Amino acid sequence: MYWEENVRRVVPYVAGEQPQNKNVIKLNTNENPYPPAPEVERVLRELNHDTLRKYPDPDVSELVNVLAKRYGINNEQVFVGIGSDDVLAMSFLTFFNSDKPILFPDITYSFYDVWADLYRIPYECQPLDENFCIRKEDYQKENGGIVIANPNAPTGVYETPGFLEEIIKANPNSVVIIDEAYIDFGGESCVPLIDKYENLLVVQTFSKSRALAGMRIGYAMGSKKLIKYLNDVKFSFNSYTMNTVTIKAGAASVANEEYFRQITGKIIETREHTKKRLSELGFIFPDSKTNFIFAAHKSVPAQEIFDALRENEIYVRHWNKPRIENYMRISIGTDEEMKTVLDFLENYLKER
Ligand SMILES: *Cc1c(COP(=O)(O)O)cnc(C)c1O
Repeated sequence: MYWEENVRRVVPYVAGEQPQNKNVIKLNTNENPYPPAPEVERVLRELNHDTLRKYPDPDVSELVNVLAKRYGINNEQVFVGIGSDDVLAMSFLTFFNSDKPILFPDITYSFYDVWADLYRIPYECQPLDENFCIRKEDYQKENGGIVIANPNAPTGVYETPGFLEEIIKANPNSVVIIDEAYIDFGGESCVPLIDKYENLLVVQTFSKSRALAGMRIGYAMGSKKLIKYLNDVKFSFNSYTMNTVTIKAGAASVANEEYFRQITGKIIETREHTKKRLSELGFIFPDSKTNFIFAAHKSVPAQEIFDALRENEIYVRHWNKPRIENYMRISIGTDEEMKTVLDFLENYLKER
């Protein structure tokens, strides 16, 4: 049979586990431990189910408008999609069409190479230095596009907009995507640079800092030109990416800036405390400006700690990949969850 020769074969991205067991302390997918803004619940409760008869607004205006206002930019500078994964996938398809390779770090979000393979985009990984930092010279050569997560995942390492601007400035002939999934946990965004560089696209998500991973909302901000090209591809693919419920819930979330600041502030506080205790327990980690810490123990292999945590219904993330096999990525939960985890680690390390 020959039909299989014409199949687009891909090795899919593997997401973190979503256990059904409610007792699990789930620190494996960087979800927010707090509920979404209370306005989201109200919108869901008051939803008139008759509105679901109709197609949603294909322009997603309600959500685009509140986001534009929140960031002080034009409506025409905002694109919305089904989580930032959808926004990034759409952006790869739209902007990375060169024969030259796209560039991204060797240790980064492991979806980038999956999309590149899916769309048959050539790529070349650039090794991070021994401290997991980007070497900007690596991005000053010919390329078909650049994608950088800032702060980076799974390392948590953050670079300033000033540093990234040097990379953007050096690449006027390709689109540079900055994936800011974790920027709300203490970093400074590159959004102010979008008016200066027509080829800069900044991507963010509601999944982490807005506690709405289950709702699936991501967005991109860039020049009117970039956003127009993105929308042209979106409308050639699926006019109705965002559903009626999601649009309303997303807009309600953006409306409550105070709650947003409160929960992100709380997570930052818990993270800083967690860093202190992890150090005391003999862990090392690059400084994190995210809602997770990428930690290795000075003497105990990560796989052993990972297994012990898992046996005790504590889920973190571990990759058996070169350079990072001795690290675990631990998402920041509530103070109570982190206390349970840290107390467990303290006992485990003492007794073994
Ligand atoms: C979580 C994450 C995303 C995707 O988030 P969505 O839930 O699809 O919005 C994108 N990039 C990075 C680096 C992430 O960690």
